[in-house]
Amino acid sequence: MKESFDTAMKRQDHSRSEALFAEACKYIPGGVNSPVRAFKSVGMSPIYIDHGIGGHLIDVDGNEYIDVVSSWGPHILGHAHPEIISAVQETAKKGTSFGACIPMEVEMAKTIQDFFPTMEMVRMVNSGTEATMSAVRLARGYTERPLIIKFDGCYHGHSDAFLVQAGSGVQTFSSVQNNGVTQSAVSETLIAHFNDLTSVEQLFEEHPGQIACVILEPVMGNMGVILPEEGFLEGLRRITEREGALLIFDEVITGFRLSRGGAQEHYKIRPDLTCLGKIIGGGLPVGAFGGKREIMEHLSPQGAVYQAGTLSGNPLALSAGLAMLHLLAKPETYPQLQQNSDYFAKGVKALIEPYKEQVTYNVSGSLSTLFFNKAEVKDAQSSRRSDTELYARYFRGMLAEGIYIAPSQFEATFVSAAHTKSDLARTHEAMQKVLSTLFAE
Ligand SMILES: *Cc1c(COP(=O)(O)O)cnc(C)c1O
Repeated sequence: MKESFDTAMKRQDHSRSEALFAEACKYIPGGVNSPVRAFKSVGMSPIYIDHGIGGHLIDVDGNEYIDVVSSWGPHILGHAHPEIISAVQETAKKGTSFGACIPMEVEMAKTIQDFFPTMEMVRMVNSGTEATMSAVRLARGYTERPLIIKFDGCYHGHSDAFLVQAGSGVQTFSSVQNNGVTQSAVSETLIAHFNDLTSVEQLFEEHPGQIACVILEPVMGNMGVILPEEGFLEGLRRITEREGALLIFDEVITGFRLSRGGAQEHYKIRPDLTCLGKIIGGGLPVGAFGGKREIMEHLSPQGAVYQAGTLSGNPLALSAGLAMLHLLAKPETYPQLQQNSDYFAKGVKALIEPYKEQVTYNVSGSLSTLFFNKAEVKDAQSSRRSDTELYARYFRGMLAEGIYIAPSQFEATFVSAAHTKSDLARTHEAMQKVLSTLFAE
């Protein structure tokens, strides 16, 4: 008799995770410190991780998974990379924070500029949220204009101005959207549609001389992966230049991933400001924003736009980040990542061939999403039409097969350079098995 997913799940013991989650729910809202960690939308309680190694995670019940979430992006070289771990250990011996200048700050700024030549000046922060929030404040201060344009479905962290039509957890748990965010906090955020330059032109026509910046994920990763159509990013560059507005690339996911120099190198577009996060911290809490010198010089204490942080440029975080960037600078790293990404995508394309009418696969390098969606996914609206119920069953099936994918349809799959060919082949086999069961019913 055909085994249902839920029967299969029972063979994996999750009792310790379940007990921890029950306890967590008494003390932590929803049991989690970030909504995307909840398995609520896939009908389960979350697994608790004991440790990670390379492309694998081991939970507290001793189950081992091939991990294609990679902490939502940072672990492009896998978990517990020995050079990153030892860099943090060595730095920790000298102290964890000084709230004063350290040599690594200079090295970090120079290293970032080496990867991202458009970032002539850089400021370090502690998260992607801080990077985008600060970049937008700077854009407003520099242009002396109040309005910003963001795209439906793009996620730029959780600061108020961005919590409108946002992707990631905001989309997954959409019932919570806007609660606690005042109308005035989002009244200066205008919404355009991805891959639709007309929607951008219209906003500029309606608000002449009022728009400070256009901010976007150059490849969307937070409504699942959605690629820019040819000419879209070029069009945004042209329009913003003409209108005297800044173009801000939120490369928190795409930075150091789509290529050494992120989406801007891949698509050959020079944004005015860039936001980084995730990979740049090597798994510690780090973000950065930077861009043209002339704009960055408006930041305090040089200029009037205030931005600060007690732990910004923290020694532990910078040592992990620098170790990561030194590893990424090695000539073999990106070819290895490319090879893994190509192998993975090729296998997925072949195995979904029989289900072409039921699923859509979007891929950009090591980022990809399998949408349970009959139609092409090219913006937030088309992504929202995906079958999240089917995705939930797919997720549970994959987990039972030992593959840890994102617990939401509206996220990306992250292939790392640490995944072995056998990890990726096992992921293919699991996908094939789960999809065939799912669509045979
Ligand atoms: C994750 C993410 C952020 C927010 O970063 P945090 O470190 O979670 O605050 C911002 N922008 C994009 C594109 C992201 O994926």
